[in-house]
Amino acid sequence: MVAEPVVILGAGHAGVGAAAALRDEGFDGPVRLVNGEQNLPYQRPPLSKAFMKGEVDAGGLVLRGEGFYAQRGIELLHGKAVRIDRHQKALRFQTGATLSYGHLILATGSRQRRLPFATDGAKINYLGSLPDAETLRDRLTKAKKVVIIGAGFIGLEFAAVALQMECEPHVVEQSDRLLARSVSPLISSFFEAEHRRMGVNIRLSRTVVGIRSCGSEFELRLSDGLAMQADLVVAGIGTTAEDSLAIEAGLPCDNGIIVDSDLLTADDSISAVGDCTRHPNKFVPGGLARLECVQNALDQAKAVARRLTGKKAAYDAVPWFWSDQSDLKLQIAGIWSNCDRFAVRGDLSDRAFSVLGYDRDGRLKVVESVNKPAEHMAARKLIAAEASIPIDQATDKSIPLKTFVASP
Ligand SMILES: Cc1cc2nc3c(=O)[nH]c(=O)nc-3n(C[C@H](O)[C@H](O)[C@H](O)COP(=O)(O)OP(=O)(O)OC[C@H]3O[C@@H](n4cnc5c(N)ncnc54)[C@H](O)[C@@H]3O)c2cc1C
Repeated sequence: MVAEPVVILGAGHAGVGAAAALRDEGFDGPVRLVNGEQNLPYQRPPLSKAFMKGEVDAGGLVLRGEGFYAQRGIELLHGKAVRIDRHQKALRFQTGATLSYGHLILATGSRQRRLPFATDGAKINYLGSLPDAETLRDRLTKAKKVVIIGAGFIGLEFAAVALQMECEPHVVEQSDRLLARSVSPLISSFFEAEHRRMGVNIRLSRTVVGIRSCGSEFELRLSDGLAMQADLVVAGIGTTAEDSLAIEAGLPCDNGIIVDSDLLTADDSISAVGDCTRHPNKFVPGGLARLECVQNALDQAKAVARRLTGKKAAYDAVPWFWSDQSDLKLQIAGIWSNCDRFAVRGDLSDRAFSVLGYDRDGRLKVVESVNKPAEHMAARKLIAAEASIPIDQATDKSIPLKTFVASP
């Protein structure tokens, strides 16, 4: 059994998930959850979606109501840790206070990557936290022309919202396609066509190389020499793991705290879960992965709680993710870069279809569904089972994908 107390650093999806899972698994020792933010722990995905549109307020984002923590015997502490003292088995805080742990779970998440050049006093917006989203939402209501740097999920979700708010969104992306890191080329082209049709201006294969403010406006310089004006600039150019305390404490890190398949770091008194980990993952090419999604945070949290209560732990869940852009719901199960061949199930023109990706041995490795939630649910099971379904059958719309899921 684990040494007590269990201290969890970071109260996002992974940290709150780990605290709840410890209680679900029957752990009855002290659980101390350190929240580095002012608000009650909240969900991040709606920040670029419903919250940005004004459909939910901050109260609607909370992961668990205030009473939950007291009811489950989880001490919710506020504070920013500045050091892990492995020798003393204690966290040190900005205030000078310390907190001892028997076992420490790091759930420190990730931080938004900053633009790599000085912006001459111009206020660039990033979208990683509730305070970021509150500021951005307020500025969006006053903006007309918006430049979004980066065509990843956050950038495109924000572009779709900006359009709904009657702004003129311009997206600048260094890659030659949208969402290049995360989806197959087929899905990239579909989303590019859809965004252009809706009225998002997209410039691919170029970067923003300079920004300066001129009064209430910004002037941006692009790598192809073009100058653009905007009254709001948002950068969504990826994240890096929040692993700075782990590095300083001498734990092996590589843009992510290195953990084994049990989510244990090199120190057997410290585990790590969520966005901050680089972990073994059989579904990801190369074997070691840092994933940034709610599924990974929650499934790792449950796995670590099982291990700390003496049960089976190894983390081997199929990665999955979703994104909402205008009326398009994209759901992804698996990883596209595993694949040699892709096939479409359904018709792109219906705006409801799935892209199926196969590896060279004919195994289904990814399913990217647009407005097809039932196919996404079946896909998660098929990918977990490493199913080999003949392409002609898998793409036959008259056979529901769930037909291929073996009964237990
Ligand atoms: C705008 C936005 C939209 C997203 N949309 C989706 C989506 O549609 N689908 C999806 O699956 N995922 C989405 N994600 C990603 C998802 O939110 C993350 O994968 C998830 O939040 C990871 O959970 P986590 O607990 O590991 O990290 P986080 O949620 O980032 O939580 C980490 C917490 O640790 C705290 N912390 C860090 N260092 C310290 C310290 N030294 N002391 C105290 N506290 C500390 C941080 O302040 C933070 O509160 C989105 C993310 C953003 C920002």
